[in-house]
Amino acid sequence: YLTGRFHLDTTTYASLHFSEGNIPGVIEVARISRITLQRLSRITIGGALQSIQYYYAYKLDHLIPPFKKSPEDFNSGMDLIKSDRGGHIFEPIIGVFDQVVELDFSSMYPSLMATFNISSETVNCKCCKDDGTGIKVPGLDFHICTKRQGIISKSISLPLTKRLKYKEYVRKTGSVRYNFTDIALKWVLVVSFGYLGFKNARFGKIEAHQTVCAFAREFLMRSAEIAEERGCKIIHGIVDSIWLKDTENRTPEEFEEVTKEIADDITKSVGIPMSWDGHYNVICFLPSKAEPDIPALS
Ligand SMILES: [Zn+2]
Repeated sequence: YLTGRFHLDTTTYASLHFSEGNIPGVIEVARISRITLQRLSRITIGGALQSIQYYYAYKLDHLIPPFKKSPEDFNSGMDLIKSDRGGHIFEPIIGVFDQVVELDFSSMYPSLMATFNISSETVNCKCCKDDGTGIKVPGLDFHICTKRQGIISKSISLPLTKRLKYKEYVRKTGSVRYNFTDIALKWVLVVSFGYLGFKNARFGKIEAHQTVCAFAREFLMRSAEIAEERGCKIIHGIVDSIWLKDTENRTPEEFEEVTKEIADDITKSVGIPMSWDGHYNVICFLPSKAEPDIPALS
């Protein structure tokens, strides 16, 4: 390594941010992953994420396996149909709509992992299997540990908390610097979910990945119910976002007010942050070219 100056290799991790000139983001990720800047720019973003996990594994007194050795549990065909499903989608209603509001869960998957202690060693743990103390996973015959904190959920908390704060700050001030750090942390969070189901990740486990999706489906459904109770129609929903149309002839200002309250009610009900994302004057969902009765997004 060079002394007195930095040399950032643009072929691996740093290339992710280089075209945008996102040096503040690379520095931010070096800080949270505890990897020196020059080394970070030469590894992958998954390597940065795993560095955070190893740090907390060490802190929590867990051994770090030299190889991945947590194979998938046996599944019947029916088990796979039930559990291996990804996020929920409300098919868009074909047509043109005015005054539509979009709500979305901020960093939904990482928030679920942090809030519900979802980690490879906490999903279907042995210590809570028989005494009934585990958190029940919606719709699946899985449980989550309530006795130990998970490595992955603990590792995700710092980048998640920082990202939500930066996002809020950028929304208020328009800061370019913090927008950059927000983008870099967003990538770390996106990768954290992928690594849960990645077969070569040291702390990955497919059941933990399925657990996140099961909570996401349950919470999107619950959000839709809360919005419908307040006179909204769901015209589209996908994984972590819903689009709402008024059914009670309220003015745009009143509808904005009501939907902001709905976002707060959802946050209180499910325990992860739902944000009011924006108000569309007009939104259009097109039919498929091949099948005109079917919306293009389904
Ligand atoms: Zn347990």
